[in-house]
Amino acid sequence: MANLGIAKNTIEIIQKYEFAFQKRFGQNFLVDTRVLEKIIQAAGLTKEDMVLEIGPGIGTMTQYLAEHAGRVVAVEIDANLLPILDETLRDYDNVTVINEDILKVDVAALAEKYNGGRPIKVVANLPYYITTPIIMGLFESHVPIHNITVMVQKEVADRMQAGPGTKNYGALSLAVQYYAEPYIVANVPPNCFIPRPNVGSAVIRLTRHEEKPVEVKDEKLMFALIRASFNQRRKTLANSLSNSPELYFTKEEIGAAIEAMGLSPSVRGEALTLEQFAKLADLLG
Ligand code: SAM
Repeated sequence: MANLGIAKNTIEIIQKYEFAFQKRFGQNFLVDTRVLEKIIQAAGLTKEDMVLEIGPGIGTMTQYLAEHAGRVVAVEIDANLLPILDETLRDYDNVTVINEDILKVDVAALAEKYNGGRPIKVVANLPYYITTPIIMGLFESHVPIHNITVMVQKEVADRMQAGPGTKNYGALSLAVQYYAEPYIVANVPPNCFIPRPNVGSAVIRLTRHEEKPVEVKDEKLMFALIRASFNQRRKTLANSLSNSPELYFTKEEIGAAIEAMGLSPSVRGEALTLEQFAKLADLLG
């Protein structure tokens, strides 16, 4: 089967099947063999691995995954792509395509069925409209995962990797870094896709922490504090927390906790590290 990472081959398949791109599914197919190789390398695939691919499209990356992993399970929402995948993946006997919405799939059950419950790797050129729910869903549902290597919007990759006090730092940075170690593998310009997206992209690898980087008694409260702090980023931490409809602490309780942490009463949430949010949750909880 021809390498679909080469633009000419992708165009041929699309024309042969008269495939109509659906914008609502975030369909931008990758056509750059160097980027494909980088993704495979960053994921550190071996023949022992089961890979979950989200949105195989016409099977471009799936072919690379099938070459390098033991088993590939690819979940694709668009039924119009199934006949194409039948053709482009016919040389491989280690690929299973599931026609489903990834947000409705029980990924832990797939890991159990295809990998005996051992940690899986996730690789995808994600549909950008659901990047955050997909990634947070995978982490929060406690699916056994070794790493997630994904193409996302460049701005989102920057937010995932940002540290305290920087302009990109926010709730997404803290949520991702609570579960994983982020590493930006490559920046990818729009001309590496058909059709071209109107944003820049980046490949990011999230390696799941074996042990959580912080201890916190009430994870939910910590994330509620994080959300409240960044909902009103220009306000002080004390004001953001007391204005939040999600939280019920008095101004005095919040002021006392901030003081007990040795922070200034005018500190902003964007200055706090994950450890400090964990401590704040323990003090208030
Ligand atoms: N992997 C292909 C590639 O790299 O060329 C396609 C990537 S394209 C950016 C995103 C893919 O995700 C599309 O094939 C799209 O149909 C699929 N998709 C969109 N929403 C989805 C969902 N909720 N569940 C599963 N697949 C989805």
